[in-house]
Amino acid sequence: MKQIKLSTTGWLLLAAFFVSCQQQPQSNDKKTEMQQRPAYAIVIHGGAGTITRASMTPEKEAAYLAALDSALFLGETVLQNGGTALDAVEKTIVFLEDCPLFNAGRGAVFTHEGRNELDASIMDGTTQKAGAVGSVMTVKNPIRLARAVMDKSPHVFLSGRGAEQFAIENQIDTIDPKWFYTDERWKTLQEMLEAEKTKGKTGSLEPETRDYKFGTVGCVALDKEGHLAAGTSTGGMTNKRWNRLGDTPVIGAGTYASDDACAVSCTGHGEFFIRYAVAHDVWALMSYKGLSLADATDFVVNKKLVEKGGEGGLIAVDKNGNIALPFNSEGMYRAYAKPGERKILIYK
Ligand code: ASP
Repeated sequence: MKQIKLSTTGWLLLAAFFVSCQQQPQSNDKKTEMQQRPAYAIVIHGGAGTITRASMTPEKEAAYLAALDSALFLGETVLQNGGTALDAVEKTIVFLEDCPLFNAGRGAVFTHEGRNELDASIMDGTTQKAGAVGSVMTVKNPIRLARAVMDKSPHVFLSGRGAEQFAIENQIDTIDPKWFYTDERWKTLQEMLEAEKTKGKTGSLEPETRDYKFGTVGCVALDKEGHLAAGTSTGGMTNKRWNRLGDTPVIGAGTYASDDACAVSCTGHGEFFIRYAVAHDVWALMSYKGLSLADATDFVVNKKLVEKGGEGGLIAVDKNGNIALPFNSEGMYRAYAKPGERKILIYK
């Protein structure tokens, strides 16, 4: 019998072939997700809550759609031009922070004492570096400060006056707090304070006094190099007290990104998102359990959060460019774009 001689490379190739034959078959869901990796993908949100057609005027609806469209366009352009997912996320969120329609930056909600306290975070899926700021009152674009914390400090999370000092030292724009004033948010606070007085209640989190129109903003992106990033920015919840911080600046709760699986940005009743480490939970289900993005996000938002009573939603993109935008509230301002695909949505 003739003997077949194999070189070292030949043996390696043969071994690799056997190993690949023995690997677990992938579910159809996973296979389809992997086959269609687009050049880039971007998803944004402008908050989840009781957003119904009945509560909306045509003018208001048009304004929201136009703002989401412009924000998406900015991020998309960065990605189309070969920019990084991180830059796309930052630029998109800066735009949304400057838009008074959203509860972040300029349109931030008011605290019990009538102040605007802003929170934001950003995470780089490639390095797993992250930056976050909480309770800043004079920083025009908190997402920029979060990025500076990530890039220029040895820390992840800065808050209050120290964070504002860090902004000044790093040439991040600061501004008169009046910049954040909007009539609509002020009115909402007055209504909530009035409701508290008549009902004799305190705190912002009781169902009767909770402002359901949250309005936080967020963005997740996959760039042409296959890198992921996520960011989120908010004014928190109307009538919050005692320097309350929500999930938005908490890495793993409101924001998470890791190139090995996905990037996630959340919006909703922050206390629940912190308790159940929502953004990290999505990543963990994918990474440890092999769930698809669709299954992981559906489980967390529509099963776990619903069971626990946590209202809200999230946006996510995985390393193969699949996206998910689930929410368990009545609506969520949201939009996404991939090459040849673009959508802007509000209601269910
Ligand atoms: N999650 C934010 C917070 O609790 C609010 C929101 O998303 O609308 O501060």
